[in-house]
Amino acid sequence: RRLDDPILELEGVVKRFGGITAVDGASFQVERGSITGLIGPNGAGKSTTFNCITGVHTPDEGSIVFDGTDITGNAPHRVANEGLVRTFQIARELPEMTVLENMMLAPKDQLGESLWRSVAPVSRQRVVEQEEELRERSWEMLEFFEIDHLAEEEAGNLSGGQRKLLEFARALLTDPEMLLLDEPMAGVNPSLEKKLLEHVHELQDQGYTFLLVEHDMDVIMNHCEHVVVMHQGSVLAEGEAAEIKSNEQVIEAYLGG
Ligand code: ADP
Ligand code: MG
Repeated sequence: RRLDDPILELEGVVKRFGGITAVDGASFQVERGSITGLIGPNGAGKSTTFNCITGVHTPDEGSIVFDGTDITGNAPHRVANEGLVRTFQIARELPEMTVLENMMLAPKDQLGESLWRSVAPVSRQRVVEQEEELRERSWEMLEFFEIDHLAEEEAGNLSGGQRKLLEFARALLTDPEMLLLDEPMAGVNPSLEKKLLEHVHELQDQGYTFLLVEHDMDVIMNHCEHVVVMHQGSVLAEGEAAEIKSNEQVIEAYLGG
């Protein structure tokens, strides 16, 4: 089905790994300003689809359009520069870096050092100003996610849930329009999960769009306006959560594994 105001449009996306077709002609759209859930049994191709969207993989066929711009095959930093960002796992090899230092690195990681420099400044004065802006915005984000008290803590000392919040905060630093979250609630305790979801809704109110892969059906059914179901590399069904829940083909796909 076609949506009123799609911010993201996938058309016939195919991704093969040797003899395996991980994504097999996936087509769907994400409505601007929505929280859209991408679900499906294990091996359905959800993560590979995410990786095609964010430029980690280049699709073998098909097209991906974000906010009217064809981003098919673009490198991750270019996709991020268009305003489409995914959460990144905090690098385990840098556990001695503090939470704030991790934040300060985020734009360089997301946009790439050279692109970051190209939007950034030549003059020394401007470098200092930009660092200051980044520091302020980092604090704002840490406050928003209520982890500002951990700013000087080494990232390696955070709990799994706190790490998720930091990853979320980092993703927001480049001020994207749309966020992709791959299993954001994995390993997060129920009270933190509730908080994370509140943040998602608050950010939706501010105009952000979300696409999230999530195993927890309650999360999907209670928080996503629109649900896309993948099975064996393509879209099996899509629609409102309530329709999806009672869709015979969907139930069968899950039961059949
Ligand atoms: P999901 O996230 O829905 O569980 P994936 O996208 O991870 O599914 O995987 C879809 C299929 O593609 C699986 O059969 C998986 O084994 C295969 N696959 C994923 N990534 C690779 C890869 N890098 N090389 C080979 N096969 C892969
Ligand atoms: Mg996956």
